[in-house]
Amino acid sequence: MLLKNKIALVTGASRGIGRGIALSLAKEGCSVIISDIDEVELKNVEREISLLGVRVLLIKCDVSQKDQVNEMMQKVQEIFGKLDILVNNAGIYPHKSFEEITEGDWDRVISVNLKSIFLCSQEALKIMPNGGRIINISSIASFVGFNGLTHYCASKGALNSMIRALALEVASRKITVNAIAPGVIETPGAHNPDKNLENQTISMIPLARMGQVEDIAWAVVFLASDLSSYITGQTIIVDGGWTLR
Ligand code: NAP
Repeated sequence: MLLKNKIALVTGASRGIGRGIALSLAKEGCSVIISDIDEVELKNVEREISLLGVRVLLIKCDVSQKDQVNEMMQKVQEIFGKLDILVNNAGIYPHKSFEEITEGDWDRVISVNLKSIFLCSQEALKIMPNGGRIINISSIASFVGFNGLTHYCASKGALNSMIRALALEVASRKITVNAIAPGVIETPGAHNPDKNLENQTISMIPLARMGQVEDIAWAVVFLASDLSSYITGQTIIVDGGWTLR
C-alpha cells in the first residue's frame, strides 16, 4: 500500500475522473475526503469507498466559492487534523464558439477551473504538513487548441503556469505541486452518444483507444506517493499519444 496513513481530498469526486481518483487513493490505504457540488452522487461514492475499509468523509462544496472552500478545509482540520494530499480535479468544459462566449461564460469557466485551484491550494497549505502533495487535473487543451473551448484552453494553460510558480514557493517545505494533462477520457461529462465521432476520436489516438479514468487515477497515485518525491512543477501528459503528432 503506497498511501497508508495519508489523508487526501479530491474535488469534483462524485463522478468521472474525480470518482476514479478517490477510489484509487482509497485502494492504496488513504483516508479520503470527497467533495463536489452534487451531493446525491457523492453519497454513492462514499458507500463505495467505505467498502474498501478506509475512512471517508463527504463534503458538499462549490470550489469556486471562497467561503465554501474555507469551511471545507476547516472541517478537514477539525476531523483529520491535517491534509497530506490535495487533488484539484473539479472542472467544467462547456463548448461554445468564441464569438458566442459571454462574459458570464468566461468568468464561470475561469472561476471553476482556475480560481478554485488558488482558493483550495491556499487553504490546504495551511493544514498541509511538510512533504505534502498538490495534484491538479489539467488537460491536453492546455497545449493544443480545441474548437469551441477557448475559455477552457485558457484556464488549463494558466493552471500549468501557475503550478510552476507555486511549486517554487513551497519547495522549502518539501511539498510538490504537479499536474496531469489527460487526453480524451471516457467520463459522464465527456460522453458523446455519436459513435462516428467516437471512432473519429480513436483514430487520432496512437494507442487506439479512449482513456479510462483509471489511466488518470494511477498517475495521481504515483504523484501522491513517495515514488515521485523528486518531481515538482511538472504537467504530465496522459493521452495515449494524442499530442505526439
Ligand atoms: P465530469 O464527469 O463532468 O465530472 C466533474 C465533476 O465535477 C462533476 O461531478 C461536477 O458536478 C463537479 N463540479 C463541477 N463544477 C464544480 C464546482 N464548481 N465545484 C465542485 N465540483 C464541481 O468531468 P470529468 O470528465 O471527470 O473531468 C474531471 C477533470 O478532468 C476536469 O478538470 C476536466 O477539465 C479534466 N479533463 C477531463 C477530460 C475528459 O476527457 N473527460 C480530458 C481532459 C481533462 P456536476 O455534475 O454537478 O456539474
